[in-house]
Amino acid sequence: MKNGLFDLSGKVAIVTGGNGGIGLGMARGLADAGANIAVVGRNEAKSAVAVEDLRQRGVKAIAVTTDVTDASAVSAMIDRVVKDLGRIDILINNAGMSIRKPPHELELEEWNRVIDTNLTSAFVCSKAAYPALKASGHGKVINIGSMMSIFGASFATAYAASKGGIVQFSRACANAWAPDNIQVNAILPGWVDTDLTRGARQQVAGLHERVLARTPAARWGAIDDFAGITVFLASSASDFVTGTAIPVDGGYSVMV
Ligand code: NDP
Repeated sequence: MKNGLFDLSGKVAIVTGGNGGIGLGMARGLADAGANIAVVGRNEAKSAVAVEDLRQRGVKAIAVTTDVTDASAVSAMIDRVVKDLGRIDILINNAGMSIRKPPHELELEEWNRVIDTNLTSAFVCSKAAYPALKASGHGKVINIGSMMSIFGASFATAYAASKGGIVQFSRACANAWAPDNIQVNAILPGWVDTDLTRGARQQVAGLHERVLARTPAARWGAIDDFAGITVFLASSASDFVTGTAIPVDGGYSVMV
């Protein structure tokens, strides 16, 4: 995909949670468009495999082992990416997790863990990356929401709160950083086959079939479905697109 509007050659992208699932699908898309990639996650073995996969695509890739809920670790991660890859053009806040319980059963510690991982981390990473994104002259931030940014579910207490927050946080940053030519957008994935939803399918009876019946495309999403939207939102093709939240869901959010 290395042509004109969508060419990312020489650019540097950070993908939190880029060592698996949707994050790896997005990282592969960016690498195929020419970007060098920093994969951020906690599991070193998983990150090593992802980095090798990305290097096979002909770009530089590094793993920076970081817990995105630790602000000082995030600050060190940003310094390391600038030192090793030279710049930051693209930040993808994708790391996330879920604890599936109704509100009356969720512990405060569990609420905090989900909000810290899914929402506060996006703030911490974005703030830490801002000077480098501004210096690049054409920064791009992509935040990962969910169908729970739009809908609720009894088991998605903290998760839905975090993913609703991601959309509003993206809008705030889009306004704040437009003068710096930084575009900030959110992607709202539908139901995608990953480790996260394998857990959900085990815990929530009938979920697999309900998703299939409700999705006009009549399938679960695959991680490769996120390459195209990511390259679009990371490239100059989207320079006048900011503050949006784009569903990538096989039509799930437009089906009554
Ligand atoms: P995975 O569980 O496959 O990936 C989650 C990633 O986040 C892992 O790579 C994990 O890496 C990383 N991560 C989690 N916590 C931390 C942390 N504290 N610090 C650093 N990295 C962390 O799930 P998905 O690919 O499905 O999810 C990716 C994103 O997409 C999430 O934000 C999720 O909410 C969202 N999403 C997913 C949907 C789906 O259907 N799959 C639907 C809608 C949204 P490590 O283990 O190495 O820390």
